[in-house]
Amino acid sequence: MTVHLALGSNLGDRQRNIETAYKLIEERVGRVTSSSAFYFSKPVGFASEHDFVNSACEVRTDLNAEELLEAIQGIERDMGRVQKSDSGGYADRIIDIDWILAGERVINTPRLVVPHPRMHERDFVLLPMNEIAPNAIHPLLQKSVRELTEELSSDNAIRDLT
Ligand code: ADP
Ligand code: MG
Repeated sequence: MTVHLALGSNLGDRQRNIETAYKLIEERVGRVTSSSAFYFSKPVGFASEHDFVNSACEVRTDLNAEELLEAIQGIERDMGRVQKSDSGGYADRIIDIDWILAGERVINTPRLVVPHPRMHERDFVLLPMNEIAPNAIHPLLQKSVRELTEELSSDNAIRDLT
């Protein structure tokens, strides 16, 4: 299947953390067929002095849904993400990898919800996604990434790092 993932880091050498995560995604998940520039955003939902670097990618994978979730969580773990955010809470992190879309497939289990339930309200997800997949359709909202990006009402002042 072809999926879209969003990556974020706000600790340490953030660009390098994203690059390391991309390398591990290539090794463990599948071919990264496109990836966005790096974007710079303020933390949302929690107070931190550390801004995020964000990026999004398209990956072709032979893993099933459960295996893919385990693979991205394994990468987060191996890169030393110690602090798991508790339900609804957010925290600084070396790397966060979220599964954003699985084409027009919908997944809804206790451990995994795809499309990611907050993707449509996050500029730090939508702007990188709009760069690489503006025509991708959110299967529940029946809107394209481009439309969702145009509807954003955010003051997070994200900017392109490149
Ligand atoms: P967040 O990314 O919201 O800050 P975490 O990365 O700590 O939070 O993830 C919390 C939990 O969200 C994970 O344990 C995972 O099982 C669950 N989860 C559900 N849907 C997804 C998804 N689409 N992508 C990534 N994790 C997901
Ligand atoms: Mg996450």
